[in-house]
Order: sequence, then structure tokens, then C-alpha cells
Amino acid sequence: MSHSTSGAAAPALEPAAKAAPPVVSPDVVAPAKVFGVQELAADSEPWKWSWFRWSKNEAPVFFWVMIIHALAVVGLVLYPLPGWGMVAAAYGLFWLGGLGTTVAYHRALAHRSVRLHPIVEMPLIFFAQFNGSGTPATWSANHRLHHAKSDTPGDISSPRLGGFWWSHLRWLWQTPQTPVAKWAPDLYQGRYLIFTRSQIPLLAVSLVFGAIWGWAGFFWLGAIRLTFALHAQCVTNSIAHMKKGAKMGEDSSVNCWWLAPVQALQGENWHGNHHAKPASARLGLTWWQIDLGWWFIVACEKIGLATNVRRPKFAD
Ligand SMILES: [Zn+2]
Ligand SMILES: [Zn+2]
Repeated sequence: MSHSTSGAAAPALEPAAKAAPPVVSPDVVAPAKVFGVQELAADSEPWKWSWFRWSKNEAPVFFWVMIIHALAVVGLVLYPLPGWGMVAAAYGLFWLGGLGTTVAYHRALAHRSVRLHPIVEMPLIFFAQFNGSGTPATWSANHRLHHAKSDTPGDISSPRLGGFWWSHLRWLWQTPQTPVAKWAPDLYQGRYLIFTRSQIPLLAVSLVFGAIWGWAGFFWLGAIRLTFALHAQCVTNSIAHMKKGAKMGEDSSVNCWWLAPVQALQGENWHGNHHAKPASARLGLTWWQIDLGWWFIVACEKIGLATNVRRPKFAD
């Protein structure tokens, strides 16, 4: 696999002791594991792994993603038409979770572009976590690192490194968790710790609570909703980062208008705007770039539940 272990033999003009030691890539040194845990060396390239390997401590993420997909497929086969009420309930939870992720996790916590009153912030975090977005600390640590190292080898999810599926899903379990102590210490304390402790029980409830309404409820309010929510978020890392012709280290983010309905018009699809102005709480920058997350923030600001709202210079 390595292309650096077998250079042409140097002419015997110098003593052999001076020859450079062979450079062996970590992929060659590591046991040839296909399925299981792999500790990531600093210079490793996990985007070259098979899908079925995970970084140390990330196995639960791998199994979670596989389980919700398997159950979603079974549910769609058995209950393809669960009725409008069920679909609306699943979509409503997805919508609240998406709002929680974009407004609370992304704009308020990761970027500090708005300060939300806890009576708004805490329910939004709850719905984001119920939607499978992780904890405020882990989400924000990953995201801050993504901005700090965008489209370089230090980026956690760049399609420049591993292509579409790497940036869309595989990084979730093949990149080690970004150290929270370094990247999000402000979210690993106080009231935010509630959500570090609640993550596992809340996800378990999220997956199965729909069974109260029978098997159709189990699948649609659980795995089908969670799988759709996962992909609706992951398109920001994959599709909205696939600018044609972008080179390594060059910003690959784009605004992607057709992702607007997929992301419930909540604004994350204007990702090119966001990388250009990451401090702005507003992502959609023109009247036609609908950004319901921004509208929600403005509404909260008007009634005193959002302060310190950071606006892009040329817009209100
Ligand atoms: Zn990005
Ligand atoms: Zn961001």
C-alpha cells in the first residue's frame, strides 16, 4: 500500500550507513485489521480504512449509525405509509432537533454569535440531543476544529481528504473525538454537563419511545426520524463542502440552494456564507436565502430572550 518503502536503490557512492531509513506508512506497520478498533497515529490516514473500522472509543458511534439505518430500512418496508399524523409528528421532532442544532449548538454555543436565555437554550439543546446531535461539548469541539483547520489534513471531515462518504458519515466513527478539554472547555462545565450525562439514556428513549403508538410509531418516530435527521445534518459536511476544483487547504464550502428544504429551511445550507463570515449569527445573507434559524433568533431578540446577536456588517 505504501509507495514510500521501495525507492530505487541509490548508487553505491556513499556508505550504506548514510542511507535514509525507509519511511513506512502507519497503514503498513499496523495489523491488517478490517473490523475493529484502531488507535489513530498522528500521521495516520483513516479515510483509507474500510468502513468497518473505528477509532478508539468511537465504536458506539459506529454501531449506533448501523442500527438506526438497519431499523429504518425494516420500518420503511413494513410500514411505508404510516398516516399523515405519524409523519407530521416525526417531522416535527426532526424540525425541533434541527433548530436546536443550528441555533443552539452551532450559532450560540460553537461560535458564540448569539447569547440565548437558558429557557430557550436548554430546550433547544434537549431537542438537538434527542435528534442524535451529540452533546454541546463534543459537537462544538468537532465544529471548532473543523473551522480552525478547514480543508487541511487536520480537518475532521474534509471531502478533500477522503471523498464524499468520508465527509458525510465515516469521519463520525473513524476520526477520534476532538479533545473537549482543548476545544470546548466552556461547554464541559455548569449546566451543559447535564447533557454529557443525559446523552446515552436520552438516545435510548429517542430510539424506542415511539413504540407507545405501536410498531409504526416505533420505526417512524425512532429510527426513520433519526436516520433522516443524521443525513440532513451530514450534507453540510459533505455536499456543502464539495466546491469543484478546490485544492487542499482552499475553502471548499458552498451555498447549496437545493439543500434548503432538506434542512427544513433552517439555514445550514448557506454554508459558503458561513465559512466566509463564521462570526455572524445570520447564515442566509439575502432576502431569498431563507434562514429560519436566523428568524428564530431575531424573534427571540425582540422579546429579550436572545442578546449579543452578531450580525454580518452589510446586513441587519
Ligand atoms: Zn464547514
Ligand atoms: Zn460553523
